[in-house]
Amino acid sequence: MKSELEVLGLWPGSRPVRHPMNMLSLWRHPPQPELKDSISELPSPKYFQLHPFLIWKPEHTLMERVRNNYILPCLHGCPNPQVASSGIGRPRVIIGTSGQYYILASRLTCKGCRKYWHADKPQWLEKLPQRFRNIVPAFLTHKKAVCRSVMDEMRRSGRSPEDMSKQLTEALHLKYERAHLAYLLSVQNVRDAETGVYGQRTITGLLRQADTPAHFGGYADADGWCGVSMSSHYLVDCLVREYQRQEQHLTLLLQGTFGQALRSDHTRKVSRKVVLSSSTMSSYAIMNENWMILSWVMLQSECDRSLYPMYEGLCQRYTAAGVEKARYQWVDRDCCAAFTVLHPGAQEHVL
Ligand SMILES: [Zn+2]
Repeated sequence: MKSELEVLGLWPGSRPVRHPMNMLSLWRHPPQPELKDSISELPSPKYFQLHPFLIWKPEHTLMERVRNNYILPCLHGCPNPQVASSGIGRPRVIIGTSGQYYILASRLTCKGCRKYWHADKPQWLEKLPQRFRNIVPAFLTHKKAVCRSVMDEMRRSGRSPEDMSKQLTEALHLKYERAHLAYLLSVQNVRDAETGVYGQRTITGLLRQADTPAHFGGYADADGWCGVSMSSHYLVDCLVREYQRQEQHLTLLLQGTFGQALRSDHTRKVSRKVVLSSSTMSSYAIMNENWMILSWVMLQSECDRSLYPMYEGLCQRYTAAGVEKARYQWVDRDCCAAFTVLHPGAQEHVL
């Protein structure tokens, strides 16, 4: 890693390397505002209100490597598309788990049909090969967009969209507060230096014309922080779309966890940890031949009826995954022998 960073000029002490337009990344991060302002003026809040952005210009030389010899398609399906840039694009705000950022997409035209569209138009993105689409860090719809990081977090944590939107709102506002604080600290730093806190003295006793720090502005100020919010409805929408997009893969994943042989077991040791005032509980687990747990429930009674809903659910899961039902089942005692995955094909009970 060290040598790669040296080639890029990023390793401490390595020779500076010039990259025209910093073309090694599509990402642009604003300069660190604390380093930016000169000491003779009070810092400007503007530098503290910048968000990162991604340049999305598939037609640009910037993306030559990805494009290779591939000819960009026309949005309207021309047989001989001639897609070219036509002016500056528009920024679109994206909400991620670590704050908001922008995608700056170019405006494109097809010289064949003389029509115009933006490079972040979802219908056009869908026509591009996977290697292009994977670079876009967000799920884009007509007007809004959500970062992949939000969807990943939702899937990982299993939170409800409502919870997630609250968590995002909190995180986004926290980021705003931190930027505001950083701005105030920067102003304080200048003031401290002037009053000689660090031991230095100005020879001339510099006097500024405007000595009042500029107001930082509110969260949603259009000419300031420009903070946005995200509704839980929109997140639900995204989840549904994401499911539709990945349905095939998810089914495959599900199919992988179902087995052809089941082993079920009453496990008393675990259930002892569950304290209920009324009665003893027992836990009942069903595993496949690879010892992966397919289902695990707590039972208040050990009668046959209490297991029925679980087997019914398991049966539905097999059906939903499109897998043939398990054919063999081991049980730890006779009482459960009556149960097996419902409506199986040819089956055997092994006791
Ligand atoms: Zn066209």
